[in-house]
Amino acid sequence: MRALVAGGAGFIGSHLCDFLLDQGVQVVCLDNLITGRKRNISHLLRTRGFKFIRADITRKKSIPESVDIIFNLASPASPKDYLASPLETLAAGATGTRNLLELARSHKAVFLMASTSEVYGDPKAHPQQESYWGNVNPVGIRSVYDEAKRYSEALVMAYHRCFGLPTRIARIFNTYGPRMKLGDGRVVPNLIHQALTAKPLTIYGTGRQTRSFCYVSDMVEGLFRLAGCSDPMPVNLGNPEEFSMLKFARLVKQLTGSHVPLTFHSLPEDDPKRRCPDISRARKILDWKPRVSIEQGLRRTIDWFRART
Ligand code: UDP
Repeated sequence: MRALVAGGAGFIGSHLCDFLLDQGVQVVCLDNLITGRKRNISHLLRTRGFKFIRADITRKKSIPESVDIIFNLASPASPKDYLASPLETLAAGATGTRNLLELARSHKAVFLMASTSEVYGDPKAHPQQESYWGNVNPVGIRSVYDEAKRYSEALVMAYHRCFGLPTRIARIFNTYGPRMKLGDGRVVPNLIHQALTAKPLTIYGTGRQTRSFCYVSDMVEGLFRLAGCSDPMPVNLGNPEEFSMLKFARLVKQLTGSHVPLTFHSLPEDDPKRRCPDISRARKILDWKPRVSIEQGLRRTIDWFRART
């Protein structure tokens, strides 16, 4: 069995490469290294059954090896990254996804799309079920990511309906863990880094907005299980434990032993107010739920950041 992991040098992608190799699956990792990093996979470069190809999914590429499954995780994913590369983000979701779907067709491979909770936008339904169509501002600054992922989902379903391609869609909610980039601007690396370097913790808006954080090992196990199931309709993957950013900041302070103050900054445009996955579907069809508590996961993440600060 061989998997192609597009975006395999990224944060979740590189953990997925590790997980697949542990399961005895060979891995071809494709990444253009715009936001991914070679150091995330440097420990794998001499591993049997692992191959890295530096390539951009927006350019057509053939793979000489046979491939049984394609995971598409190739896209900038943090708001800071996708706002810095808006056109590349749209192209990755549109042309990139289409190229990989064609590759899946030619290899008769399963195709798994890493979509996002951002397809729900600033949701009016809570917690978010897969049946909710979302509340996305199509011309707001976040739309380059949200709409690219929504278009990817539409493309995937069209390939499924037109060609009978075996497809899966994972809607990934906020995920954290080792290998997040220090400077990617997301709340988890920001607050941990600030706490470890005795700087005030930056809270955007009132800090009452919520997110639900899933540890990365739980996420990759969910993706693997989804790959092995035959349901083409979207599945939420995430941890349903919901935190306000104020509560999350308190937890980071407690676990790092830091006494730094909070500083308040303006809320980014269209920042979703509440986000929490309903994971009933994943529980039912994948027999999956997160196993790593926020304390355990954050301790591991803090240790990892501490070793690099
Ligand atoms: N946020 C914050 N301080 C930071 C970075 C982010 O309060 O230093 C907030 C951000 O406004 C959002 C939440 O934390 O409400 C999660 O942001 P992140 O960028 O991690 O991911 P998102 O879920 O928005 O894609």
